[in-house]
Amino acid sequence: MPLYVYEAKEGGCGRCRDGFEISQSIKDAKLSECPDCGAPIIRVIQAPALGHSKTDLNYRAKRAGFHALKRVQKGEYEKIY
Ligand SMILES: [Zn+2]
Repeated sequence: MPLYVYEAKEGGCGRCRDGFEISQSIKDAKLSECPDCGAPIIRVIQAPALGHSKTDLNYRAKRAGFHALKRVQKGEYEKIY
């Protein structure tokens, strides 16, 4: 399943404030609020160069289920494990 990155528009909790990844089916509706705190969230386009291939990323996501992301700069994310 493809991995999407969401981030709170404003406010948010520890999970969504700095963005988080979630794996969703293409058929699933886009999330509009944080599953944890209900803050409004938007889907952000993932930076292409994260140092992982898409396959590697999907594999990691499957294994970890979820990981937090830290915003390094606009449009760029750094993983925090
Ligand atoms: Zn939240």
